[in-house]
Amino acid sequence: MRGKKSLNGNGMDAPDVIIIGAGIAGASLGYELSLTHRVLMLEREAHPGMHATGRSAAIFSEIYGNAIVRGLSRASRSFLFDPPAGFASAPLVGPRATLFIAPRDQIPSLHAMRGDADVIAGTRPMTAVEAVACVPILRPDYVMEALFESGASDIDVNGLHQGFLSGFKARGSALVCNVNIERLKREGMFWVVQTPGVRYQAPVIVNAAGAWADEVARLAHVPSAGIQPKRRTVVLVDAPQEHDIRNWPLVIDADETFYFKPDAGRILLTPADETPTPPCDAHPDEMDMALAVERFETATTMTVRRIVHKWAGLRSFAPDRTPVVGFAPRVQGFFWLAGQGGYGMQTSSAMARCAAALIRGEDLPEDIKAQGVSTQAISPARFATART
Ligand SMILES: Cc1cc2nc3c(=O)[nH]c(=O)nc-3n(C[C@H](O)[C@H](O)[C@H](O)COP(=O)(O)OP(=O)(O)OC[C@H]3O[C@@H](n4cnc5c(N)ncnc54)[C@H](O)[C@@H]3O)c2cc1C
Repeated sequence: MRGKKSLNGNGMDAPDVIIIGAGIAGASLGYELSLTHRVLMLEREAHPGMHATGRSAAIFSEIYGNAIVRGLSRASRSFLFDPPAGFASAPLVGPRATLFIAPRDQIPSLHAMRGDADVIAGTRPMTAVEAVACVPILRPDYVMEALFESGASDIDVNGLHQGFLSGFKARGSALVCNVNIERLKREGMFWVVQTPGVRYQAPVIVNAAGAWADEVARLAHVPSAGIQPKRRTVVLVDAPQEHDIRNWPLVIDADETFYFKPDAGRILLTPADETPTPPCDAHPDEMDMALAVERFETATTMTVRRIVHKWAGLRSFAPDRTPVVGFAPRVQGFFWLAGQGGYGMQTSSAMARCAAALIRGEDLPEDIKAQGVSTQAISPARFATART
């Protein structure tokens, strides 16, 4: 537990925990855990947030993802909507409803959604006429039925990530960037992290390496959790000049084959692709960009004249699309915080509190358990039989 030892230029002398990866997962856990532990965070890139965290669509929706993801999102709401004093200089969320639309062939999918208790509680049905009034570029002959989720929001991803990192540092912990881990080995009581110039060690190591989580496990000779990175492509296009788009909702079709939303005066759109990809600095694929434009033009009266900006990022999933949080079975001191999929922002606060509690040897926080999240449901042990 926490002692008072000095920091040095390469981190700290004797951390209790080393976190690998300084995206939203590593940063949020670092923030929570540094209340009680001396934490050292190691990031391979020159700056944290270069991968999935810096490339997200920044949406909070309590009806997105499976039951565990939704529970983690609900349990993160109070932090995002009412963060601790001094955490951020501006609100972390802004209004952004979600409009689910169904063309004729997706009406059964929209009806299936309406059979879900969370969806019933969190949305109201809209007629096609109301949907088109809400987003006037939608084609009246395309939208047949709709659902409106008023409780969704935009997340200020940079504000959230920087808030976690600043709080983490203010609590006496340290971040080291440009770290190239060559070897990761348990030696007696410690995990030893060998880099070209420096050797770090701590009793507990946290794998928060996003798309590289399975690679980090391999380096440590820990069985894989089957984390699969999947590429998602995003393009920004010009907004229609005749409309004020600022208050438009995010529009998504019931089968999630595309979505679009206002983004800083432009329209962000994606074909909602999920292409399995090895961990990498992801780049958009021309075909996926074309698909995004085609689906957008089919659903709306817009013609896309130019793509202003484009990017792609990796959303990394465990086989059951539930995050992986907990100590690896039968391996001392190796902790997983991975598989955040497309929900890593909206679940970050609750995931970090779960991980911090488990590392401290405590039960999950009561408010998170009350949302239906259990240690077993998120534990890496659920893959142990299949993969060891
Ligand atoms: C297009 C897109 C849209 C999305 N939309 C949303 C959304 O609307 N809402 C939402 O909640 N989520 C969304 N997400 C998901 C969200 O962005 C991710 O779940 C989240 O960013 C994952 O965070 P992470 O910290 O696990 O991963 P990352 O941000 O990728 O961080 C992992 C870090 O680990 C580092 N690392 C890897 N290997 C090593 C190593 N060996 N040594 C040191 N460091 C290492 C990497 O450099 C990286 O910085 C979206 C993602 C994408 C790509």
